[in-house]
Amino acid sequence: MKASLLPGEASLGVMGGGQLGRMFVHAAQSLGFRTVVLDPDADSPAGLVAHQHIRSDYLDVAGLTLLAQQCAAITTEFENVPAQALERLAQTRFVAPAGAAVAICQDRVAEKAHFAASAVACAPYAVIVSEADLLAVGDDLLPGILKTATLGYDGKGQVRVRSRAELAAAWSELKQVRCVLEQMLPLALEISVISARNAQGEIVQFPVQQNLHIDGILAVTQVPAPGVSAALQEQALASAARIAASMNYVGVLCVEFFILQDGRLIVNEMAPRPHNSGHYTMNACDLSQFDLQVRAMTGLPLVQPRLHSPTLMLNLLGDLWFSPAEPGVERTPAWDQVLALPGTHLHLYGKTSARPGRKMGHLNITAASAEQAESVARQAAALLGLAMDW
Ligand code: ATP
Ligand code: MG
Repeated sequence: MKASLLPGEASLGVMGGGQLGRMFVHAAQSLGFRTVVLDPDADSPAGLVAHQHIRSDYLDVAGLTLLAQQCAAITTEFENVPAQALERLAQTRFVAPAGAAVAICQDRVAEKAHFAASAVACAPYAVIVSEADLLAVGDDLLPGILKTATLGYDGKGQVRVRSRAELAAAWSELKQVRCVLEQMLPLALEISVISARNAQGEIVQFPVQQNLHIDGILAVTQVPAPGVSAALQEQALASAARIAASMNYVGVLCVEFFILQDGRLIVNEMAPRPHNSGHYTMNACDLSQFDLQVRAMTGLPLVQPRLHSPTLMLNLLGDLWFSPAEPGVERTPAWDQVLALPGTHLHLYGKTSARPGRKMGHLNITAASAEQAESVARQAAALLGLAMDW
């Protein structure tokens, strides 16, 4: 793409209609861009708010052709968008991120090879495609976590194993698909870094986020990261920048890291799009991750975002819509009471029904100090009946 697409003129497309697409659409619309979502679901959160919703399969030629006709640039909001679909769109339109980069992120084997090529350490691992691979696994990888190479999310598609017998059983449980076995690492905490990079190779980054997962799903993100030294934060930012640059990435990229109990930084995985752990940017920074997604794909200037408030994000899962006393009956959480607390910003994704574990929204809390943000978050969590083991 030579010149940038100007606000108020162009149409922007997004593959996928989930909540990340919805927040992308909101950011694009606030700059006056027309927006088009491609998603098969009639009630998709992004489809409901876009100017146009193309209801088709991700590989449907007619749907892709229409999207390309309608839009000057196209992005994706989910990791498992078929890379061929992006490559097809790229024949006639600017697509960011590119299919080749998304393909790396979709496959844990390719992803780990890319981390090695970027000189960033990941967990010791073995690729499992056959019984022979299973037998050849070194003792150092047990206990470990067996993860499917593709299609895993929110802790799905992975099994923790302590012994060779458990490993064999787990691989059967995962239908003997291609997997990686990772050594179980002694984690001190988890962090992530969100970068935005443009076609000229310019990169800007948000500060390091500290993340807490409960039952394999992100529960809490805190920024500034309370448990991470300045040196480790520098190292994480530099590692994420190398990972993006070495695949010539254009768009928003999230890289997840572990910090081990001995203080080492280890990369876990990456996502070729804005990320749940970056939702706090909507209220705590002067530019959000979605603003930067729009800027990166349109060639508009990438300026360094600034965190203006200490912040804490609570994920709102469908569980909150049900009380333990009446498990089958859907209720509305006490939003009015939560919004009475200072510095609370509620984001609901417009999903038509709540289910336990389903991401329904998030609550950003901004405050003058990290202590205050945490204190308000604990009050909000108590009002909502959210788990407080953080
Ligand atoms: P996401 O929802 O981020 O897509 P996912 O299903 O792709 O998650 P991972 O990020 O690979 O899965 O793992 C989920 C969680 O499991 C991690 O956040 C971490 O808490 C734990 N975990 C994963 N790999 C390891 C490891 N090698 N050692 C220790 N804990 C791990
Ligand atoms: Mg993860």
